[in-house]
Amino acid sequence: QLPLALILSTLLAWIAWLATAGRMSFTWEINLGIAAREFEVFCQPLLNTRNNECTGVEILLRWNNPRQGWISPDVFIPIAEDHNLIIPLTRYVINETVRNLAVFPPDHHFHIGINVAASHLRRGLLLKDLNRYWFDTNPIQQLVVELTERDALDDIDYRLVRELHRKGIKLAIDDFGTGNSSLSWLEKLRPDVLKIDKAFTGAIGTDAVNSTVTDIIIALGQRLNIELVAEGVETEQQATYLRQHNVLLLQGYLYARPMPLAEFPLWLAQRTPL
Ligand code: C2E
Ligand code: CA
Ligand code: CA
Ligand code: CA
Repeated sequence: QLPLALILSTLLAWIAWLATAGRMSFTWEINLGIAAREFEVFCQPLLNTRNNECTGVEILLRWNNPRQGWISPDVFIPIAEDHNLIIPLTRYVINETVRNLAVFPPDHHFHIGINVAASHLRRGLLLKDLNRYWFDTNPIQQLVVELTERDALDDIDYRLVRELHRKGIKLAIDDFGTGNSSLSWLEKLRPDVLKIDKAFTGAIGTDAVNSTVTDIIIALGQRLNIELVAEGVETEQQATYLRQHNVLLLQGYLYARPMPLAEFPLWLAQRTPL
């Protein structure tokens, strides 16, 4: 008779092997996707509440995998981050954006936000990549690097951020309010932009606790003179509230869903003012 423990441990080892095999093949899929240029960059407009104009975009990655169909970035980005693939993917995004800069207004104040993993910055590679893939083409528009607050920001060397600032790059903190850090990085990193997470935008008028957090984030941004972007704006009620509270930029389905870069000029031309 086989001891139960042996059966169990064999079973566990087998499950672990299957899981690893599954993940391995997914990272292989990502590698393949990069090589075959299956990823596409989309952009979502940011609306300025002062002049009612679109004064920037966020670049968002899309993957139409010919073997599995559309895969959400919420699925493949975390896996890419865990398997050293986020840097090649980000290079891809930067390259594709640079290649298509002509779709955006040739304006120094036009923001182009790119999502970057803190590990990319932390290892000192981001600046090298930007020199190589962004600055070499002398883009006119303003580059904004978005770092998510859910990544540990406390241990980022502030000198790396000073370097970005010296190059004229702005730093935005994404998903602000969802991290569990002590905010000690605020003083050190001196971000130019705080992006209010859509959970807090969604709470306006519906959830007392979270909408109080929204108010506190707005107050914080204003006291520290940091530009505010509200993401996930879906209703007129939210937009009105944010405008009344002097949030500078609004982003969300109320204005536009993320779209292929090629569609942006037409969207801009046909856009009905706020
Ligand atoms: P994020 O950076 O917070 O991006 C905003 C997400 O909110 C996007 O989801 C966008 O499509 C979605 N969104 C915009 N407006 C609304 C709205 O009104 N309502 C709702 N419910 N959602 C809205 P998406 O494109 O699926 O991306 C998910 C996340 O994946 C991003 O969150 C970001 O963390 C990551 N991601 C996407 N593209 C990239 C990329 O190129 N590089 C990196 N590192 N991460 C990326
Ligand atoms: Ca973002
Ligand atoms: Ca966000
Ligand atoms: Ca998010």
